[in-house]
Amino acid sequence: MARFGRRDTAPELALRRELHRRGRRFFVDRQVSKRCRVRPDLVFPRARIAVFVDGCFWHYCEEHAHLPKANAELWRRKLLANRQRDAQNEAILVSEGWRVLRFWEHGDPAAAATRVEREIDRWDSIARSAGRRAHHGRMDPVIEVVAGVLTRADGRVLACRRAPGRSAAGQWEFPGGKVERDELPEAALARELHEELAIDVVVGERIDRSTTTVGGTEIDLASYRIHWLSDQQVASSDHDELRWLSPTELADVRWAEPDLPTVRLLQAERPTG
Ligand SMILES: [Zn+2]
Repeated sequence: MARFGRRDTAPELALRRELHRRGRRFFVDRQVSKRCRVRPDLVFPRARIAVFVDGCFWHYCEEHAHLPKANAELWRRKLLANRQRDAQNEAILVSEGWRVLRFWEHGDPAAAATRVEREIDRWDSIARSAGRRAHHGRMDPVIEVVAGVLTRADGRVLACRRAPGRSAAGQWEFPGGKVERDELPEAALARELHEELAIDVVVGERIDRSTTTVGGTEIDLASYRIHWLSDQQVASSDHDELRWLSPTELADVRWAEPDLPTVRLLQAERPTG
């Protein structure tokens, strides 16, 4: 009987070969989250796509997973637990901004490859159009943005100053960015913090959501608490200065207007610890 989680199964190799033939490059069998040890079979790190090819028996495919006659109930529980663990791992990856694609080993590798390519192309076009918008400074009527409040053990929160040459340069903000079309805000925030600060985070509860008009454009900003390994060093690609501010120091910098409602809520909180 096949081992669970073995590498290089035939269906997985078939998908790898097919994607390779189509000129796609990826990592194989690589851990992508610090919070779970799951190793997606294929990993596209730039597009943040994780692909699993699930074996019909061990992942309990309804069509093909025939339970061994001996200890059938025990097997059923064990295989259901595998499915449950798949779902838990998937939820963790999604919360960290990954797009997870699962295929059954009984499926057609060419169809699976096409599905993967569609996801990569979708990501490419989002990345390209985001670049174009940034380049031409085109105004959308409403821009949906997400921001993360990172707090250190000493209660200080991370504030970032927008670099020269960007809109609202010199103003301070919480790190984050735009929500792409079809993207959940939490996933967008995890993605942005990964891209901007090179940290992998878990997006916690929402602090505020407010709309602010800036120069004729409505900015719809939702802010969230961020759970992360707070002893990590952070550096930002989009900002020229980062500061850890205590609640009383929040008033010392000039915040970008859309961030002000969140700042006021944080100032109103009683300091903890
Ligand atoms: Zn199957």
